Amino acid sequence: MSDTIEKVKCLIIGSGPAGYTAAIYASRANMFPVLYQGTQPGGQLTTTNEVENFPGYPDGVTGPEMMLELQAQAQRFGADVRDGWVTKVDFSGDVHKVWVNDTKEIHCDTVIISTGASAKYLGLESEQKYLKLGGGVSACAVCDGFFYRNQEVVIVGAGDSACEEAHYLSKLCTKVTMLVRRDEFRASKIMANRVKNTENIEILYNTETEEVLGDGQVVTGVKVKNNVSGDTHEIPATGFFVAIGHKPNTDIFKGFIDLDETGYIINVPGSSKTNVDGVFVSGDAADHVYRQAVTAAGTGCMAALDAERYLAAKEG
Ligand code: NDP
Repeated sequence: MSDTIEKVKCLIIGSGPAGYTAAIYASRANMFPVLYQGTQPGGQLTTTNEVENFPGYPDGVTGPEMMLELQAQAQRFGADVRDGWVTKVDFSGDVHKVWVNDTKEIHCDTVIISTGASAKYLGLESEQKYLKLGGGVSACAVCDGFFYRNQEVVIVGAGDSACEEAHYLSKLCTKVTMLVRRDEFRASKIMANRVKNTENIEILYNTETEEVLGDGQVVTGVKVKNNVSGDTHEIPATGFFVAIGHKPNTDIFKGFIDLDETGYIINVPGSSKTNVDGVFVSGDAADHVYRQAVTAAGTGCMAALDAERYLAAKEG
């Protein structure tokens, strides 16, 4: 069901660093971008406390604050930032069609997808509690590891990400305990071996998290259970890192855009182009390797420039 159909030159879907950066560039290029924020305005960074690795903030900045600044910067140049959730797309014809909140239909000359990815969590009540409090639960060692230097932490997961993050944490923390739910790693041999050969990483196989322990404000430890023996014990820790994978937010594009087997959008290497003319991708929706705010912002810039060139060639 649609009211009147709106025509838009450049539609940006998503409001993390990728989407806002695309909006800054697109509005300065007179593309009159319309940006839909989605259900988590500001994206994944709004679940992070302090961002200390984004260039230009020598004293750090909170994730939500940085997102508000990026939004204000985009709006300063005229970007039309709207509440709303894109529920459906149709990229099969000459006109790219997008529906917002199932009702509003938009016809777009160009679309920039910046829908990001979501870190997976275990789903335990105690994990979610300390995540929301910003009290020691994190899904990003590179973002938050620095706050746990010279402390003891626990990390869950056995894939390449978990190995990479455990290794990163081992250089900052006195001890890293890694919880692997089976009796083997999923990670590549080389990554798993790196972890196994690191002195201050202890690997507990067949081990699952029962509860994240805390004092009501911050994490103080983790209660774990051996799923073979049934034994439980507590590990003292100030940080609990979850590295069990990410899910790109790309479900609505299935069937219209080429995705890889895990759902990431496949871009033309070195550009933001997808397999559909006029549809571009930026940020974590296409990136399972770097996943940083600054790389997302960089690809947001690329997407706006690619969209501008596409329009110029078309209008040419
Ligand atoms: P993966 O899906 O590869 O691994 C997820 C891990 O989390 C698995 O070991 C899985 O256990 C574990 N897990 C899932 N759910 C739970 C749970 N509820 N409790 C405990 N453990 C759980 O995700 P990654 O993010 O590690 O990697 C994604 C892709 O990115 C991969 O293709 C990887 O190779 C790639 N990558 C490559 C890197 C590199 O080459 N430098 C770096 C990072 C990622 P189980 O094994 O039992 O299923």
